Amino acid sequence: ATPTSIMVGTGKAAESGILFKGGEHLEGTHKLEAIVLDKTGTITKGKPEVTDFSGDEETLQLLASAEKGSEHPLAEAIVAYATENSIDFLDVDHFSAIPGHGIEATISGKNILVGNRKLMNDHQIDTTGYEEKLINYETDGKTAMLIAIDGEYRGTVAVADTIKETAPEAIKQLKDLGIEVFMLTGDNERTAKAIAKQVGIDQVIAEVLPEEKAAKVKEIQEQGKKVAMVGDGVNDAPALVIANIGIAIGTGTEVAIEAADVTILGGELLLIPKAIKISHATIRNIR
Ligand code: ADP
Ligand code: MG
Repeated sequence: ATPTSIMVGTGKAAESGILFKGGEHLEGTHKLEAIVLDKTGTITKGKPEVTDFSGDEETLQLLASAEKGSEHPLAEAIVAYATENSIDFLDVDHFSAIPGHGIEATISGKNILVGNRKLMNDHQIDTTGYEEKLINYETDGKTAMLIAIDGEYRGTVAVADTIKETAPEAIKQLKDLGIEVFMLTGDNERTAKAIAKQVGIDQVIAEVLPEEKAAKVKEIQEQGKKVAMVGDGVNDAPALVIANIGIAIGTGTEVAIEAADVTILGGELLLIPKAIKISHATIRNIR
């Protein structure tokens, strides 16, 4: 690899909005065999909206007040929904986020839990009566959360995030380049599969805790494959580091951008197959 051709290649990439941190990553991109994409904020726009809420007004008030303490996109969607519905927010006495599960808060002496089945199971809250409803939301690609107050089920809230318009085309191009494509998410398996289907991904790794994302990338590497990880979140940073090529979404967090080898501007997924094509053209010129 001549330094000049690498410089030309990375320069060309930069003009398209693909920022390589160093020339060696262009060569690394050339060798890729598999690519793992995070779901929320990478494949989807990361701007979820509440589509369904069931519960009384007090439940909505406690739900939204509790979620005000969370920075999760799901929480932002719930807070926006409550604001649109003119809900008065209450003071929160205690708040804690439980990664991959949900949140817990104390408001006016009441205990509030919002999250997935795992969270409810951990607190011995029976959700069997609501299973059918959850499955319906999830089959539609929505993320469904359960709400419990003082240990009792009080309602559900479902949130939907839309896929990026160019995601299906980007996935198709990656497959045409002979790259194996995976989706990786902390979200529920059914929801993840519904979104994966919309973009043409058939290999889904779901319900992965934030601290397990890097280990999942490693498992694919252990099958002898050179892997790229694409992500936007703080959660994704360790996986971006461990991957052969870490690709950050330009609209994502600073932490992800710092951990990555490449950043794609504007979060445009079509820039990923483009980066691979540029690497092929560059390496071809070298040989
Ligand atoms: P993702 O990979 O989609 O960002 P996370 O690991 O952040 O996934 O979250 C996994 C799951 O944990 C969510 O799908 C949701 O069920 C639950 N969860 C996380 N944060 C919250 C929150 N602030 N409120 C309610 N549920 C949450
Ligand atoms: Mg994300």
